[in-house]
Amino acid sequence: MASPFTPREPIEQTLVDNEAYLRRILDDSPIPLFVIDPEHRLIYWNHACEAMTKISAERIIGTRDYWQAFFETPQPVLADLVLDGVEPRELDEYYPTGIRKREFTDHVLEGEAYYPKLGKWLYFTAMPIRDSQGRIIAAMESVQDMTERREAEQALAENETRLRHIMDGSPVPLFVIDRAHRITHWNHACVALTGVVAEQMVGTRHQWQAFYESPRPVLADLVLEGAEQGELDQYYPMGIHERDLAGRRVLEGETYLPKRGKWLYFTAAPIYDRRGCVVAAMESIQDITERKQNEATLRLAASVFEHAHEGILVTDGAGVIIEVNKTFEKVTGYAREEVIGQSPRLLKSGRHEVSFYTEMWQIITERGYWHGEIWNRRKSGEIYPQSASISSVRNAKGEVTYYVGLFADISALKESQQRLEYLAYYDPLTGLPNRALLADRLRLALAKAQRDNRVLAICYVDLDEFKPINDRWGHAIGDELLIQVAQRFKRTIRGDDTVARLGGDEFVILLGNLESVMEGEQVLERLLKMLAIPFVFSTMKVTVSASIGATFFPNDGSDPDTLVRHADHAMYRAKQSGRHRYRLFDSEQDRQAQIHLELLERIRQGWMYGEFCLYYQPKVDMRRGRVIGVEALARWHHSEQGILSPAAFIRVVENSDFAPVFSDWVLKTAIHQMAVWQEAGQVLPISVNLCARHLQQLNFVVRLQSLLADYPDVRPDWLEIEVLETTALEQTQQVFQIISECRQLGVRFAIDDFGTGYSSLTYLKQLPAQILKIDQSFVRDMLCDPGDLAIVRGIISLTTVFKLDVIAEGVESVEHGTLLLQLGCDHAQGYAIARPMPAEEIPNWVQDWRQPEAWNISMSDA
Ligand code: C2E
Ligand code: MG
Ligand code: MG
Repeated sequence: MASPFTPREPIEQTLVDNEAYLRRILDDSPIPLFVIDPEHRLIYWNHACEAMTKISAERIIGTRDYWQAFFETPQPVLADLVLDGVEPRELDEYYPTGIRKREFTDHVLEGEAYYPKLGKWLYFTAMPIRDSQGRIIAAMESVQDMTERREAEQALAENETRLRHIMDGSPVPLFVIDRAHRITHWNHACVALTGVVAEQMVGTRHQWQAFYESPRPVLADLVLEGAEQGELDQYYPMGIHERDLAGRRVLEGETYLPKRGKWLYFTAAPIYDRRGCVVAAMESIQDITERKQNEATLRLAASVFEHAHEGILVTDGAGVIIEVNKTFEKVTGYAREEVIGQSPRLLKSGRHEVSFYTEMWQIITERGYWHGEIWNRRKSGEIYPQSASISSVRNAKGEVTYYVGLFADISALKESQQRLEYLAYYDPLTGLPNRALLADRLRLALAKAQRDNRVLAICYVDLDEFKPINDRWGHAIGDELLIQVAQRFKRTIRGDDTVARLGGDEFVILLGNLESVMEGEQVLERLLKMLAIPFVFSTMKVTVSASIGATFFPNDGSDPDTLVRHADHAMYRAKQSGRHRYRLFDSEQDRQAQIHLELLERIRQGWMYGEFCLYYQPKVDMRRGRVIGVEALARWHHSEQGILSPAAFIRVVENSDFAPVFSDWVLKTAIHQMAVWQEAGQVLPISVNLCARHLQQLNFVVRLQSLLADYPDVRPDWLEIEVLETTALEQTQQVFQIISECRQLGVRFAIDDFGTGYSSLTYLKQLPAQILKIDQSFVRDMLCDPGDLAIVRGIISLTTVFKLDVIAEGVESVEHGTLLLQLGCDHAQGYAIARPMPAEEIPNWVQDWRQPEAWNISMSDA
């Protein structure tokens, strides 16, 4: 196509052609164009101006009305400004978008204004037209209708604002990133969640720092890049899932933020442009910490429910079973499916009264909770005890929606409880009631006897010589024997009577419902007889017997403990009286025994506190007027009763196991006393009184020897031991043996109170003692009683025959002495010579003592 500027024609012609050509272009331009001259008169107005303003060129050319053509109010169009070189600033009011100056090839102004008359937005540009000297000769202005574009722009802006409002108003944290991963939107909820304000975030790529401590992509990044999610699982512990949301690829994932202690749920979705290209990604975040916690709690609750050691049963408000756990199945034997929809009544054992359940439900209704023990039935039919609790669960309106029952099978517990109870009340060896249960039974038996007006026997049984059986045959046989004994007892008594084992070989038998004491005694005899039948153990036969003591209620109206004690005392008497027998309790005897016991206790105490001492009574040779020794006699300085002589205590001591201790003390004190006197230059033999029981004490001789060894200055033959004739007679051979052994040590022996026993001549012949001591009862009365005189004379002549020494005690007067001297007994002791006195007084007495004249005379008679 040929250019209109090609200079092919003569210049003028070319100019004319060019102008016409240009004019046509301007005329036909779709853009409204007009030109004004320096006088602001319109000189050109193209067709498009005519079309837009509906004002023809003929009408308007030459006028200055071009602005009215566009505006209602007078306001300059930009061309005016171009011509006038006016600064545009003050005209901004007319041009809402402002007037801008643009350096084009020339000075160009542009601006937009609203054209209310037409309801249009117009965009004006104005440009000066210059002559060849550069003077402005006109201004051309173009007008463009911008209405459509403006409206589109505005709609877009409004849309965006609205969107922003929506995003900001959303309670869900949302943000948008563009293709460059830069944040374009960061809503208020994001601010609230992360604490980072939008101004700090928009335009940055700091989205991940806002959430995490360590760099890691948020899901929106993946959406933009289309990355595979697999490798990111470490950041999203629950995995990243892809979801198709109306054809859009949405990613979602949960992640834990340890620093904040929060669980977040992310979703990211792409944002497409019109052509379907991803231009941005929007991500939403939800704080699901609470949900997670709830889930965890629920999981925990479910696990507790499933794995609880208690059986759990849940019913609805109407009492229909809706859930049970594994333990329930295990304990009851019912499978879950079998009980769902059923009533818990299915589990009833039938052991409880209706009132039990009524009361239970009443408590649940009132307090919402019940706890107790209940017997239920397993599917197998077995009945078992439960420790159970039932709670009601109410909804917000206060209506019961569920009942939750928790129970533990306590059959094992019950069994061990029973076992413990058994151990607490029964003797494990024989299966008989023990002491505790006996107390119970005795109480009941007493009440029954009282009510029925019957006699009750309380019998204490102790096997005789059981220990030797144990020692000889072993404990297994001993145990077996006890078991069989228990069985025999049980067979001998009535079913409702009681045999209890107190331990060892001691039993207590309660015989109730007796008519009389005699009837009870018959049973005791039967018991002894039954027991006497030998017990057979595979190859051997064992025979036992028992000593039984009994007391009878109501004759003996004591309290239960005392009744047993009385029976025990009576048993002791049976033992004492030779075993294999029974004795009935005698209250007077028992009273004496009691007094005896108390006295013994008092003696022991006194002895410990040093209230005992030895007095010494001189023994003399009346004929020669010499002191031959002293007899040690025990005294008790009783704190309240003053000095007590042996009559007040010696029998009690001798009949107790305190005797050896006491005797040993006497021996030791006496030997020590001889050492003291010897030290002071006085040799005084001492005779001590020892009971035979002490002599028979194991190791007596050894002990005596060692005591003497402790005092080497005391010669053994200074010590004389007096043994009562009565006791020395009892165990003759044994006592003789001991006396002989002691004599080998050098110790001398005297038979005390001679004449009160029944010594035979054979006895006297074998007697290893050296001295006979004539009992004072004969001596005292020999002056007036010829019988006693004869006895004294007889004893004295016996001593001559058997070559024994003789001494008389109870010499209360000089006459007694004189007569004794005449009868041939030179040695004597008695009040006429001296009374027993404390050790300290002896040396002076010995020094001062002079024999009575009468005895001196007797010397010449002899
Ligand atoms: P016994 O061995 O025959 O002692 C002589 C008793 O006669 C002493 O009584 C003494 O005080 C008393 N007596 C001495 N001369 C006369 C007298 O002229 N007339 C009267 N009426 N009595 C006289 P006592 O001290 O009361 O002792 C009584 C008995 O107690 C003793 O009789 C002796 O059998 C026993 N006894 C004393 N001390 C002990 C001791 O240490 N051990 C043991 N086992 N028995 C002792
Ligand atoms: Mg004596
Ligand atoms: Mg005597």
